[in-house]
Amino acid sequence: MTERVAGVRLAPYTTLGLGGPAGAFVEAGSSEEIVELVAAADRAGEPVLVLGGGSNLVVSDAGFDGLVVRVASRGVEIEGDLVTAQAGEDWDALVERAVREDRSGVECLSGIPGLVGSTPIQNVGAYGQDVSQTITAVRVYDRRAGEVRDLTARECGFAYRHSAFKDDLGRYVVLAVTYELAGDALSGPVAYRELASRLGVALGERVPLAQARAAVLELRAGKGMVLDAADPDTRSAGSFFTNPVLAAAQAAELESRTPGFPRWDMPDGAVKVPAAWLIENAGFPKGYRRGPARISTKHTLAMTNPELTASTEELLDLAREVRDGVLEKFGVTLVNEPVMVGTRL
Ligand SMILES: Cc1cc2nc3c(=O)[nH]c(=O)nc-3n(C[C@H](O)[C@H](O)[C@H](O)COP(=O)(O)OP(=O)(O)OC[C@H]3O[C@@H](n4cnc5c(N)ncnc54)[C@H](O)[C@@H]3O)c2cc1C
Repeated sequence: MTERVAGVRLAPYTTLGLGGPAGAFVEAGSSEEIVELVAAADRAGEPVLVLGGGSNLVVSDAGFDGLVVRVASRGVEIEGDLVTAQAGEDWDALVERAVREDRSGVECLSGIPGLVGSTPIQNVGAYGQDVSQTITAVRVYDRRAGEVRDLTARECGFAYRHSAFKDDLGRYVVLAVTYELAGDALSGPVAYRELASRLGVALGERVPLAQARAAVLELRAGKGMVLDAADPDTRSAGSFFTNPVLAAAQAAELESRTPGFPRWDMPDGAVKVPAAWLIENAGFPKGYRRGPARISTKHTLAMTNPELTASTEELLDLAREVRDGVLEKFGVTLVNEPVMVGTRL
């Protein structure tokens, strides 16, 4: 088993480049090791942080006073349409392989950083796809019950950028994920307008998988949404805020303040509003700076640490200013998408 190391700074393990030291840090190379380490820490009453690629985490300047288990389990098994990957597999490498092997269903999720084991946590999604559409089972270690279990997709409680895992953060450690990826050289029906227009097709049409992947990667790179050491705008945790979903009465209130605001009407009468529009129209343009922290110059939703000189608190001060400005102007409270460790917005 890998050694525990004390006092490892977490900043280099996150895409924001933020976070103080871990009480102890250990890399787990297999499911068995992950379970052993987490179970032993639980028995000892030691807090545990499961760390994947660190691309959806905001870790406090004080760090994490407990055991950080970095997931490094590898392996992919294929049975017909079912692809089961260990939690420590790189997500985009899995997508690239699926596309190469003519397996349809995750091509629009190209270029998303992080590991397989994190994909069910917030139901990773982009460009009209999310993993709830293809996940059939998630193998977990249930820390409350102290046992390994297979959860069905239904038990995962998937919703927009949300799941049962997020409701009960820390209870389940994801060990492996099974995706049903149909053998098919064509993408799913293109469901996102911007992607359809980049591909030159109508919504609902299907395109060769490699074309879908290439178009998504291009669109993402244009927004600083593909990790690139040479691009300071990618020192982020992706979208910092989710698109708020307003109940009908709240939407009517917003309509009275701001007639004609952009909206996606949901089947249940709720209304989803683009967070980027709210932020820009509350006076925070792309590139808006507060000290060393900056809104990405390419994407309004990304809060960045462009020169890697900000502290976590400085980044959060920017995010708080944006949240408060949107609340004051529109009466809508933005909620953070990344997971906060030892701190809050
Ligand atoms: C440039 C950029 C672009 C992005 N674009 C998108 C996007 O388009 N769509 C999208 O949905 N997200 C996006 N994200 C967010 C992020 O990439 C995803 O949420 C990703 O799934 C996080 O994976 P990770 O391995 O880095 O997780 P981490 O950041 O390491 O962890 C995130 C959370 O999951 C928990 N966790 C990690 N692994 C496990 C496990 N095995 N078991 C239990 N809990 C675990 C952690 O404890 C933490 O609470 C983007 C991020 C960046 C930096």
